[in-house]
Amino acid sequence: MGSIFSLITDEALDICEYKDYHCDLCSSKPAFSHCVETKYEGEDREVDFLCASCIKLEDSKQITDEWEFSLSLCQNSNSSKLELEHTPKLPCFIQEIDWPVCCGELCEFEGVPSSSDTEQIPKLRRFWFHGVKNYNKEYGCSLKSEFLKDIGFFRCNICSSKYFTFQFM
Ligand SMILES: [Zn+2]
Ligand SMILES: [Zn+2]
Repeated sequence: MGSIFSLITDEALDICEYKDYHCDLCSSKPAFSHCVETKYEGEDREVDFLCASCIKLEDSKQITDEWEFSLSLCQNSNSSKLELEHTPKLPCFIQEIDWPVCCGELCEFEGVPSSSDTEQIPKLRRFWFHGVKNYNKEYGCSLKSEFLKDIGFFRCNICSSKYFTFQFM
């Protein structure tokens, strides 16, 4: 479990943080992409980048209905929803947020592949696209290394199953 965000492995934050961006609320660095409606100096305002501590503020709830499917698979959807609301907009979901769920819990995002041997990935991990799918059946083509940054690695903290996500444009 990540020590900064429970749903993200600490090391995975290095590739995803916006090192040169300042937090829209407190100006500290680094900031993460986290689009929210929040209170700023007493006014309702939309912000796009927040640091880890500001993401955890009660007012900094990320609002989206794209989690519905994932949350419907969670054992305790209320606490899982709260976790997602205070997790930065990670990883790269080109089409829509589609967070893998296993053993009734949200999986932990482990980062993107480090090796360019992407063709092996569907053999080593389950493919997640609105549930577990067969990658080759779904896309019918091999996973190319040019998509490295668009592939997300996830792990179930209960049964250790490994997953990957990848969405075509
Ligand atoms: Zn901040
Ligand atoms: Zn599991």
